[in-house]
Amino acid sequence: MDNKITKVVIAGGGTAGWMAAAAFGKLMGKRLDITLVESDDIGTVGVGEATIPTLQLFHRLLGIKEPELMAATNATFKLGIQFENWYQQGQNYLHSFGFLGQGCWACGFHHFWKKGQELALVSEIGDYCAEHLAARQGRFAVLPGQDANHAYHFDAALYARFLRQLAENHGVKRLEGKIAKVRQCPQSGNLQALQLESGEQVAGDFFLDCTGFRALLIEQTLHAGFDDWTHYLPCDSAIAVQTENIGAPLPYTRAIAHHSGWQWRIPLQSRTGNGLVFCSSYMTDDDAIKLLLENIKGAPINAPRVIKFRTGSRRAHWKKNCVALGLASGFLEPLESTSIHLIQRSIIRLLQMFPSQGLIEADMLEFNRQTMEEMTNIRDFLVLHYRATARTDSPFWRHCAAMDIPDSLARRISLFRESGAVYKYSQDLFGESSWVQVMMGQGIVPARYHPIVDMLDIKELGDMLDKLRAKARHEAGRFPPHQDFINHYCKAA
Ligand code: FAD
Repeated sequence: MDNKITKVVIAGGGTAGWMAAAAFGKLMGKRLDITLVESDDIGTVGVGEATIPTLQLFHRLLGIKEPELMAATNATFKLGIQFENWYQQGQNYLHSFGFLGQGCWACGFHHFWKKGQELALVSEIGDYCAEHLAARQGRFAVLPGQDANHAYHFDAALYARFLRQLAENHGVKRLEGKIAKVRQCPQSGNLQALQLESGEQVAGDFFLDCTGFRALLIEQTLHAGFDDWTHYLPCDSAIAVQTENIGAPLPYTRAIAHHSGWQWRIPLQSRTGNGLVFCSSYMTDDDAIKLLLENIKGAPINAPRVIKFRTGSRRAHWKKNCVALGLASGFLEPLESTSIHLIQRSIIRLLQMFPSQGLIEADMLEFNRQTMEEMTNIRDFLVLHYRATARTDSPFWRHCAAMDIPDSLARRISLFRESGAVYKYSQDLFGESSWVQVMMGQGIVPARYHPIVDMLDIKELGDMLDKLRAKARHEAGRFPPHQDFINHYCKAA
């Protein structure tokens, strides 16, 4: 029997569907016949506008030019996320995408900084990172020879349109229609075809489930199962509303904690995306809408929308001849803007393991293992933000401060607290700088620094710290105002 896989069907045309279509079209389009089915009636989730720097790799792979992307999606640059009122009300810290200072083979920079702090030789740790300083000063540019770690805020609908164009240029076919039924082989259980409401059948050898929270293929048909993580990540609702811009866009996302959740503010060239993520056990939808509308700047340009979700992960992301991408594969909540990254990772992983000659059980298991490990590590990083709080002003924060956390996270926290070391797990998205910024921003301070720091005498340590701070200042100072650079860059598109 011929098990070759040549016909790929993508169910769903949100960010996940069009990212997959663009990547498969560009990188395997000559070998595969690819069809994407989407429903205009159902539409997309319509949020998901903040990204992280790894997206640059995806764009490079697809040959996307950054100025064109920026112009086509009304994008701004993002250098990090400012967390406000998370550890304590009135306190804020920035999780920037840059590296903090420069450590050595034995330990990270924060050990040198810690001794410097004990000797009153330092200012705040972010002062040793160019991206951190640039974000605070509202500056950014892509400069020759200065590769600052950056990501984007973009319009999700325009991003999907941009990718659709790319996919169609590489031969991907698009069908508009509602999927009414998914046909399976009675013997193997493999998927065979999508049946649309019009009666049309879309047959395939391999299917990508990008149908969002509906998870039509992976769950409703293949029953892959779901690991519910709401006991770790209790928020289950969001309100989204767009507003007119006021002032120049900041080069970072704001994540502002409220009494029962948190609010995002994502600046685009054309408008600002706002949302409130909250836990329905502590706040009603109506109260959340009221709270969000009281805390936005600029006139709303659409009515507030309520979005319900459940945090957790599909137990198998690849089952039979189907891989789930995007919201169909699970959702961890938008706190660190990791969903689009996970889509990209699964696409690349699947391209690397693509079963052209037929399904291989070992590949499927490995794909699922890596995906689950990656999601679990991200989950732990998100839980840290909620759990490491000193807030006791509302039932929600009291719940978060007392909740059980995964052992994997408990180990990371106690290690950092005791020795300042950061565990590196395999499939870990967030590196040492990220863990350090969030741990310290959330009040977890190491008890000691690494003994190698004592190899420097006080003057040597002071000189080293001064030099690193001057370097970060110099680099940030080379950037023009963010808005000026966007204008210049997009004109070049
Ligand atoms: P969707 O956008 O829901 O697309 C589903 C597609 O399937 C649509 O085309 C729909 O028409 C189609 N479909 C469904 N059923 C059928 C059917 N029966 N027949 C035909 N077609 C069908 N991610 C980030 O990286 N950064 C963020 O800042 C961020 N913020 C978020 C905020 C919130 C509140 C939420 C809920 C998510 C956020 N995300 C974020 C996640 C991000 O929105 C998603 O990962 C991303 O948009 C991908 O969604 P999707 O394509 O999987 O699903």
